[in-house]
Amino acid sequence: MIKIGILNLQGDVQEHIEATEKAVGKMDISAQIFKVETASDVSKCQGIIISGGESTVIGKLIKEEGIDQTIREHNIAVLGTCAGMIILGKKTDYQQPLMGLIDMQVKRNGFGRQKLSFEEEVEIFGEKFPGIFIRAPYASEVGNNTEILARIKDKIVAVREGKCIATAFHPELTEDTLIHEYFIKEVLNCVE
Ligand code: GLN
Repeated sequence: MIKIGILNLQGDVQEHIEATEKAVGKMDISAQIFKVETASDVSKCQGIIISGGESTVIGKLIKEEGIDQTIREHNIAVLGTCAGMIILGKKTDYQQPLMGLIDMQVKRNGFGRQKLSFEEEVEIFGEKFPGIFIRAPYASEVGNNTEILARIKDKIVAVREGKCIATAFHPELTEDTLIHEYFIKEVLNCVE
């Protein structure tokens, strides 16, 4: 049985629980999906999701809890969406705690302010996915081992490095479970 933790520090946690449950149901696998708050909770999981929200707040709590260290020490796949993408990066244009699990520089609020939030179709994994962008970041630079999964308006909006995936958009706010299913496949690879 795989265990997927949704980091319950701040942000749209419940939506990720529902999207993950739906994806698991479609894939017909058995998984336990639950909220996690501490490094000890995280160490029991093979997959962790970091939701959208406020990256400064979530990043600070992750550091305080030592959650980034725990992820490094265990075989855990990570999906970071929006604020989660920012936190997974190595550098941003702002002074804030980051995990550095994906070699990329991220531009926060890269498409403008809250009122400039928008929806746009994203081509990813050979399919069209409804991208919801809310004060979304983009990756302004990526390292050699970082795979670019999607771009819109010439900007990088989804990446992967090893078992860490990041999207600038919010897959948990759509009915389409493509991204969560892809992530769950990565989680299955982490099961010994
Ligand atoms: N702009 C936010 C931040 O920097 C992220 C927005 C979001 O997650 N919807 O944290």
